[in-house]
Amino acid sequence: MNDTFKDAKTRLAEVFRRIDLSDDVEQRLALPEIVLAVNIPLRMDDGSLRVLEGYRVQYNDIRGPTKGGVRFHPDVNADEVTSLAFWMTIKCAIAGLPFGGAKGGVAVDAKTLSRLELERLSRGYIRAIADIIGPTRDIPAPDMYTNSTIMGWMADEYYEIVRNKVPGVITGKPVHLGGSQGRETATGQGALFVLNRWAQRHNLEAGNLRIAVQGFGNAGSNFASLASKAGYQIVAVSDSKGGIFAEHGLDPDLLAAQKREHRELTQMLYCDTSVCETSDYKIISNRELLELDVDVLALAALENQITAQNVDRIRAPCILELANGPVDSKSDEALFKRGVTVLPDVLANSGGVTVSYFEWLQNRSGLYWENAEVNKRLKKTMEREADHIFDAAREQDTSLRTAAYQHGVKRIVGAIQEQGTQEYFSQR
Ligand code: NAD
Repeated sequence: MNDTFKDAKTRLAEVFRRIDLSDDVEQRLALPEIVLAVNIPLRMDDGSLRVLEGYRVQYNDIRGPTKGGVRFHPDVNADEVTSLAFWMTIKCAIAGLPFGGAKGGVAVDAKTLSRLELERLSRGYIRAIADIIGPTRDIPAPDMYTNSTIMGWMADEYYEIVRNKVPGVITGKPVHLGGSQGRETATGQGALFVLNRWAQRHNLEAGNLRIAVQGFGNAGSNFASLASKAGYQIVAVSDSKGGIFAEHGLDPDLLAAQKREHRELTQMLYCDTSVCETSDYKIISNRELLELDVDVLALAALENQITAQNVDRIRAPCILELANGPVDSKSDEALFKRGVTVLPDVLANSGGVTVSYFEWLQNRSGLYWENAEVNKRLKKTMEREADHIFDAAREQDTSLRTAAYQHGVKRIVGAIQEQGTQEYFSQR
């Protein structure tokens, strides 16, 4: 394992320093339960064969079947997937869901694949990991460069393997294939509920807050659209090719529509044009976007975006983490000392897995909910957990991240203790 996982675990070490825990807990949470590495043969459209590296990591299942997305990205590796599975374990506990944490991925530049190649890869990945997933075992979902169409193919492949329609095996599916209303927007919507709650508590008006959003995919573009409708001013957005800035705000829906239009033109599942090519706004680099003088910096792309290299130049007084792990642990400490609020990933982006849980419930009960019902339940969950974490951080004078980790770890500890620890077994 290299650096991201090591860095992710320093946050746990901080919690262990603050609360007195049995050794059993530290040992149970130190390493993942299963790390499966697979090689997936992919027949290309021209007849050639490529063999791609893939992973499924199940970190800890003490609270229930494991849950976590699948990422298609060239940088996917065991260290990254393990870190993401670890964060999912903490996140599911923070959201109070009856799930453990997992994650998966394939090291591939998905934008270079045709639709048929992408379908073969998605099905091949499921064949490779089918033995360790299932609706009561481990439930994949979308993540970077995977989407509802891909989840539909993956679920279908699983049904073929087990000769049974069990839609609860995968969440984030298209609505017509058993997906939930509201799953597409859930991560952005959940993050907005957390931001609203934080703003309310600080007597801040949405209309006075200017937001820059890094990453304009599922999480970032839905967040930008919903936040703009709620009255916040979105002044900058970016994607992997660069960003745009508009002093008096921009229209996220218009940008998203322009991106979609280009995607259709190129007949790709992914937009291969950039937001920076679709408008007349001022073009800025991703680095410049991170350093803008805005009220809220929403990070919705990759991990390790704020590090020792740029932390001193970050000017936003509030950072909203829609991505997983966008701020490394040292920079997190530095930001806390400077009084910058970080609304942490394990809380702020938990709307996605929460609605995935709702989808799993609907699939297993066969009873489907309307969008308003999904949003009502999501709001209740996000506000309940956010309030708890905001109060705990204030009472104990810690960062929101430390308070969030403490909250999640206590729930995991409860489960471990109920099964008996050294202290229990050494009692006479
Ligand atoms: P996505 O593939 O839909 O979008 C990713 C976006 O990030 C794209 O716009 C891409 O162009 C952009 N991007 C990639 N590299 C970039 C860079 N270096 N600088 C700026 N932009 C860059 O992915 P997503 O599902 O929106 O996921 C984004 C983040 O949110 C990930 O960290 C993911 O783990 C996290 N997340 C997603 C969900 C979900 O439900 N989709 C849930 C929780 C957390």
